[in-house]
Amino acid sequence: MSTDFAKRNVLVLGAGVTGSSVARFLSSQGAKVTLTDDNSAGVLKPEEVDVNNFDAAVISPGWRQDHPLVAKILNSSLELCNEIDIAWNLRSLRAPSQKWIAVTGTNGKTTTVEMTAAILKAAGIKATACGNVGDTVIDAIDRDDAYDVLVLELSSFQLHWAQEAQFVAAAILNIADDHLDWHGSFEAYAAAKFSILDRAEIAILNGDDGAVVTRANRYSGRKVFFSLDTPAPGEIGVVEELLVDRAFVSDPQQASMISELAEIVPTVPHNVSNALAAAGLARAIDVPYEDIQKALQTFRPGRHRIEVIHEADGVTWVDDSKATNPHATAASLMSHLSVVWIAGGLAKGADMDSLIERCAPRIKVAILMGEDRGLIEAALIKYAPTIPRILLDAPTDYTRGGESNSLMESVVSVASKHAVSGDAVLLAPACASMDQFISYADRGDRFSAAVRKVIAHEA
Ligand code: ADP
Repeated sequence: MSTDFAKRNVLVLGAGVTGSSVARFLSSQGAKVTLTDDNSAGVLKPEEVDVNNFDAAVISPGWRQDHPLVAKILNSSLELCNEIDIAWNLRSLRAPSQKWIAVTGTNGKTTTVEMTAAILKAAGIKATACGNVGDTVIDAIDRDDAYDVLVLELSSFQLHWAQEAQFVAAAILNIADDHLDWHGSFEAYAAAKFSILDRAEIAILNGDDGAVVTRANRYSGRKVFFSLDTPAPGEIGVVEELLVDRAFVSDPQQASMISELAEIVPTVPHNVSNALAAAGLARAIDVPYEDIQKALQTFRPGRHRIEVIHEADGVTWVDDSKATNPHATAASLMSHLSVVWIAGGLAKGADMDSLIERCAPRIKVAILMGEDRGLIEAALIKYAPTIPRILLDAPTDYTRGGESNSLMESVVSVASKHAVSGDAVLLAPACASMDQFISYADRGDRFSAAVRKVIAHEA
């Protein structure tokens, strides 16, 4: 891929966070940058682009391969670059000894990269989480005081386009249906995720996830599996109340303690799984156990990720708005015993059947909203017809992002009528939010605000 952009005409596809950051960097290198986007005012419209006018193009991750402009570029001789590889090439110039660690998976990426970065920082390593979280990778590298380690959160979209970046260690946390509308099939989605291993020295892999284990067999590099079960020699896992390492030890017949189980908060299976992955990544670059334990003790996942927002009368109100696909929602439902479940939104092509089949025993009542709520309703009718279903429409004057919070207030009022002591009221929608909300954060914030107003009677 080109590394010298000076004086070149570069087309940047996407005027969002990644595109803007790439455009800024390329301009600083003396490139003549043109931004194009379907949804931004003041930039060139994709249908107006003449590919012959450019020397190179850079694609932002959200762009689909079947977008007419992308298809046109792929059929032309125009070089198509991506942010991750541009940043990788810049690293060779600016910080050749910097190590890159990568995390991908359907769920838990942000939590795990943040955990990993926290561990590295506790060990005195100058590290940052970047990519899909925090700074873009280009911004993390385009600075005067170089980081020792970048911990990259990489989505399937970024991995689909990236070809060159190399990782000292890479983790695959899990693989389940998501973004199938973008990739076209589960196999294509999984292949994008697994391409990370082609360029990783050590693979840290979820041994509890069948879809990961079967596909991992095809890769020949060093593989370290982590699991919530007792680890075999060469693995990382859980023994009674302890997280233990049998992979990065001098004698695999021995086990070294990483931390106590109760030190991982919240102590729910998927969060422990993320901690095992983060510990594995840290051990891959020789971080001492004491630093790993110290960081895990104080680490808490970010907002809207099984976040307890209110507790009263024995009912726990939980915001897991970030559960935007069935796999994350399953983890959430299985972390609670009796759930008043709030779900619905944009399903992005995901299938709801296995979620309901697996989690029905935990669901007491389902409150459904949003565009694809019918998919969840149909799965409930098919697999758990006795679970009461309440479908809520948005009020006629409801506008996405508007001041009025009345949709969530209705949701919370209905939920409160069904919740009794011992229940969790859980917003874990299994869907993206953009049909009715600005983002998952907006959806979660409106839920918390409604709980504060309707349940806690705060002004
Ligand atoms: P990502 O960056 O992959 O979206 P997050 O850490 O932001 O991951 O979490 C996304 C959602 O997935 C949240 O609802 C969270 O509770 C849930 N989650 C986190 N880790 C896991 C995991 N290992 N397996 C399943 N769900 C998870």
